Amino acid sequence: NYELKGNLKMADVADPEVESRPQRFPKNIMITGANRGIGFGLVKHFLEYDGIELLIATCRNPEKADELNALKNDRRLHVIALNVDDDESIKKVFDEVSSLVSSNGLNMLINNAGILLPYEVDGPKICRKTMMKQLETNSVSVAILTQIFLPLIKTAASAAEGDEASIDRASIINISSTMASIEMNNGCFDGPMTAYRMSKSALNAFARQSFMELSKYHILVTSFCPGWVRTDMGGDNADLDVNESTKTLSANILRLDNRNNGLYFDRFLHPIPN
Ligand code: NDP
Repeated sequence: NYELKGNLKMADVADPEVESRPQRFPKNIMITGANRGIGFGLVKHFLEYDGIELLIATCRNPEKADELNALKNDRRLHVIALNVDDDESIKKVFDEVSSLVSSNGLNMLINNAGILLPYEVDGPKICRKTMMKQLETNSVSVAILTQIFLPLIKTAASAAEGDEASIDRASIINISSTMASIEMNNGCFDGPMTAYRMSKSALNAFARQSFMELSKYHILVTSFCPGWVRTDMGGDNADLDVNESTKTLSANILRLDNRNNGLYFDRFLHPIPN
């Protein structure tokens, strides 16, 4: 459990302009790390929207994902095993998802799975393997998984007409953190977050570069901070419960448009500086 010592300078309120935007619905969505915490919250809220026709919820151990499996009476939900750190697992899921989405392609990939391994510069010695694992899951695996799924995302993008990236067309949504922001790091967060911050800054760099390379296909790419949330990772002192965070986050993901492409936001769609 960590302490927030100062002001993170986030405007923690809804923006009326954002709330007035229409929501648009991707036909299908795939999300990683969907068995608990923020991933599970996003699944629950996305299933509230009838416009979403298929929700592929991936997690390492579907056989133990009781809460997620309990939602399977909604026929739009498919639960598939995926370890994002395992290339064979990613390739197997690619094949399964390809046949589920068929010629529609994949409209939205949400890279949510993540870990937090404690490390501070002026703290106990960390081993190289631990540090590499932190970077692997939160940034390297996202890059590999996104590249493998890119053909399906391109298929979805090319199925729509026109030159605008839109959320019902094709998107890559990365669940990052305010901890990624170098500009906002004023030392206000008391916790051994150094390796975590590095991994999320790398994730944001990947997101920004993806935007640069993928704009020509009209694929929308954004990064989000979900807020500080009471999950296994966020701990008991966090500001928000999973429902508060993911209700707002899911609603505003569905309001993203071309103007938001390539940027990094809090859950209310206020931009966060990298
Ligand atoms: P939790 O620890 O509650 O859940 C993490 C999820 O990621 C679990 O589903 C876990 O699966 C999954 N996961 C971890 N490693 C892998 C892997 N190798 N392959 C597949 N799945 C994996 O964390 P949160 O829900 O809080 O975090 C979700 C995302 O939100 C993370 O990216 C996190 O960095 C980010 N975030 C969280 C904040 C917070 O305050 N909670 C704040 C800002 C960002 P399993 O159950 O198998 O371990």
